[in-house]
Amino acid sequence: MKSVLVINAGSSSLKYQLIDIEDKKVIAKGLCERIGIADSLMSYKPHDGDKVEIKRDMKNHEEAIALVLDTLVDAKIGVIPDMSGIAAVGHRVVHGGEKFADSVLIDDGVIEAIRECIPLGPLHNPANLMGIEGCRAVMPDVPMVAVFDTAFGQSMEPKTYMYGLPYEAYEKYGIRRYGFHGTSHRYVTGRALALLNKPDAKVISCHLGNGSSVSCSIGGRCVDTSMGLTPLEGLPMGTRCGSIDPAIVPYLMDRAGMSAKEVDAYMNKKSGMLGISGVSSDFRDLWAAANEGVERAKLALSMFALAVKKYIGAYAAEMNGVDAIVFTAGVGENDRGVRELVLKGLDYLGAEADFEYNLSCPRGVETDISQNHSKVKIFVIPTDEEMAIANDTAALAL
Ligand code: ADP
Repeated sequence: MKSVLVINAGSSSLKYQLIDIEDKKVIAKGLCERIGIADSLMSYKPHDGDKVEIKRDMKNHEEAIALVLDTLVDAKIGVIPDMSGIAAVGHRVVHGGEKFADSVLIDDGVIEAIRECIPLGPLHNPANLMGIEGCRAVMPDVPMVAVFDTAFGQSMEPKTYMYGLPYEAYEKYGIRRYGFHGTSHRYVTGRALALLNKPDAKVISCHLGNGSSVSCSIGGRCVDTSMGLTPLEGLPMGTRCGSIDPAIVPYLMDRAGMSAKEVDAYMNKKSGMLGISGVSSDFRDLWAAANEGVERAKLALSMFALAVKKYIGAYAAEMNGVDAIVFTAGVGENDRGVRELVLKGLDYLGAEADFEYNLSCPRGVETDISQNHSKVKIFVIPTDEEMAIANDTAALAL
């Protein structure tokens, strides 16, 4: 058995999955939490056993990864006899700037380039680097691959990724549209091309979760995407405002006396579904409130669905048509009500949903919710970023 360890490192957390690359199966997975903080703990779930929680001090990411490895080879609860069972490690890296249009084998130069992208991804890239360096320290001879959230967006043309600011903003500060959720959009788009059996198909993928974005692509190459320099642009999200009039920023600073940092937190953490509804950022809570007649919860849901619909219309225009619309991620895969709101009134586009089936279709599997005669197919496709990272890692490292 050849397996790939997939690592998604945050500043104080580290998600991991060990994936059998031949059978495409998850062998074990879990999460280290509170790294570098008191009471750190790790959850661990082997594919054929119960989930366990291990309370152990993890001062840094290196210690977290050491604990993950010890557990994977543990005589009692482990899933592999020894470390030779891990053929390669794949790391999720959020921001690759313009340096990375594809996944890449990690060497010193790559680590340096990821470091140079820290100004673009100040929250995520330092944590991703801690994951990479922690792995290097405990398994120096195992090849590692970096898979970037921004890589998918690198095929956009300048007319799409440039903002209408002075050109120097791009040249001096790298201000442009990069797009995020790229690994997910690429994965579900690839699945849609396979389901359609049409390698050059035009696909609009809607990754709707706590963070949400819409992307469009032709033949699997990204044409446009809704997130921009940062993940704040585009749809209103769980707690993010999405696209707004940029003049609102200085207006708030003047009127409410907020600092730049405070406006940033206002837009990223207090806005979106939470800020509009005053109820929650979680769509399940929003529906519960809406069903009890809470008007602002209804408003938040309808604003969200309208924003998704507007991107679908814009992207169909941009690509001169669309062959498939894909729904994925927590909301896209599970929230039948949001899908219905988005899909109502898209018949002009040739996208005709089977609204009855939309309400009854199974969860957790790929399914086609369009009517048989619908010109545009409408798929629900569970995303699997870890599998996409494992596949890239195997292709480059094994
Ligand atoms: P992220 O990866 O951005 O944190 P996810 O893709 O996991 O987010 O999506 C999480 C969101 O999905 C939750 O906040 C919740 O609103 C929504 N969600 C999950 N399950 C359901 C469900 N059964 N019905 C409606 N919404 C759901």
